[in-house]
Amino acid sequence: MAAEQTAEWATIRPQIWETVVTPCDCCGQVVAKRLWKVEIGGQERRFCGPECEKLYRAYVVPKLERTQ
Ligand SMILES: [Zn+2]
Repeated sequence: MAAEQTAEWATIRPQIWETVVTPCDCCGQVVAKRLWKVEIGGQERRFCGPECEKLYRAYVVPKLERTQ
């Protein structure tokens, strides 16, 4: 049984009048054009790509669960 997952690429369309700075929730790198949006634990997370999602699930999520 595969866990239901909502993941998609989101294209960023920055408005001219504002500076949009979206850091990856895993590596902290600022994502300029495309965000990998994933819902994890009911919260939306933004990554620079599926690779960072994997790292996040492997290293960050277990830590978060331990503190709850
Ligand atoms: Zn990243």
